[in-house]
Amino acid sequence: MTAVSSAAPSILWFRQDLRLHDQPALSAAAAGAGPVIPVYIFDDETPGDWRMGAAQRWWLHHSLASLAGDLEALGARLILRRGAAVEGLRALMAETGAETVHAIRHYEPWWRAAEEELGDALRLHDGNHLARPECVTTGSGKPFRIYSAFWKGLQGHMPPEHPLACPDSLTAPAQWPASEALDDWKLLPTKPDWAKGFGRDWTPGEASARDAMAAFGAKAAAYDTARNMPSEEGSSRLSPHLHFGEISARAMWHSLDRRGETETFRKELAWRDFTDGVVMALPDYADRNGREAFNRLPWRKGAEAEADLKAWQQGRTGYPIVDAGMRQLWATGWMHNRVRMIAASFLIKHLLIDWREGERWFWDCLVDADYGNNSVNWQWVAGTGIDANMFGRIMAPLSQSEKFDAGDYIRRWVPELRKLSDGVIHDPEEAGCRPKDYPAKIIGHREGRERALAAGKTVRG
Ligand code: FAD
Repeated sequence: MTAVSSAAPSILWFRQDLRLHDQPALSAAAAGAGPVIPVYIFDDETPGDWRMGAAQRWWLHHSLASLAGDLEALGARLILRRGAAVEGLRALMAETGAETVHAIRHYEPWWRAAEEELGDALRLHDGNHLARPECVTTGSGKPFRIYSAFWKGLQGHMPPEHPLACPDSLTAPAQWPASEALDDWKLLPTKPDWAKGFGRDWTPGEASARDAMAAFGAKAAAYDTARNMPSEEGSSRLSPHLHFGEISARAMWHSLDRRGETETFRKELAWRDFTDGVVMALPDYADRNGREAFNRLPWRKGAEAEADLKAWQQGRTGYPIVDAGMRQLWATGWMHNRVRMIAASFLIKHLLIDWREGERWFWDCLVDADYGNNSVNWQWVAGTGIDANMFGRIMAPLSQSEKFDAGDYIRRWVPELRKLSDGVIHDPEEAGCRPKDYPAKIIGHREGRERALAAGKTVRG
């Protein structure tokens, strides 16, 4: 039976924390005397240019449907509203008499501004990171620029807190405020339905995130080597679940405690904390080079560069590993990490196209598109960021493809090459067996490399 209270309600504001387990804002709201009103506000205004991309909208739709079902089981409802979040929350407080909003702290610059605006009414809780990114700093209190130093600094805060249990029930208000209908938000694509393949790979929602966490536990011991092999499913594939907060990083961390040492995985998991530390210190990191000298880099522009960008987006560069990755991205909303690095490096270095073009394409296409993770990784590959990575570091897509044994991966995503043997599939053009329906390379490896190095020199000089 649903409990009802006459004390003032509190609002539980969901954003990228769409879960009931280890949800400190939920636990705090549930511990209060009054009823709890869970709300999600679909906000295309506050993030400005960084409003959610199309693939994330697909995920969000299904994740909210799942969360609403889970809340019902606790005797609660998920109230859906659209518009600027701060105004929406203030309106909901006025309607319901709520005096407090509980929420998990976020690090995207637009959320930090919104949190500031809400002032004293907002109670912020930590819960999406292993440690608060602002607490893991250098001796002089500055954020770390280099990941390895950050990891060392993080050890002083580990292990993370133990995850909180999901409350058994939530107290309902005497009257629920009105909610919009999820379908009215039209988050799913219609014609063409480019997301029709997504459902084969993904089930958004907390239950599925917890299943993925358990499934990864069984293969965690092999992660160290298998994670780099695109043909294998060696990584956890938890990134969209983590991005939407359907599972917490600390739950993930502790789930592995019982399964022995998995230091490499934990190091990857901690990258999320690192990237949010970077965007906290440099909020416009997604738009500006971390090193200003790169503002002078002569990126290619104009019709030819635009045609090359399109070929990259469509997976028609003539480099099988790059094309396989870009097609996996389009078909499933996700790309293997090793291939993300190769494809990003190819765009930035071989095609000499501004990293921000690739970053934005990923933002629209990735189900895990994340402000911190995406911008920091793009600048890391570009060598334009605050870390020590150099622009002159150029990945060789063909040897990377051979090294990480991407034969089956290419066969899966580039059907034109399905019949080619392992010996020739990485570079069919060189082997003289490029099928007619597969494009020739849009740029030679050496030519692209030399052009990039020459461009890099203009920055130094
Ligand atoms: P696992 O290897 O199982 O790692 C576990 C978790 O750790 C991931 O789910 C992720 O949350 C975190 N993680 C792992 N590697 C990284 C990393 N390098 N940076 C930040 N977090 C990491 N990841 C995103 O979540 N969102 C993005 O928008 C994003 N954009 C990227 C863009 C480029 C150009 C590159 C090179 C990488 C990007 N990544 C991004 C990082 C990484 O590719 C993905 O997190 C990873 O592929 C997700 O797969 P997984 O869950 O199986 O990872």
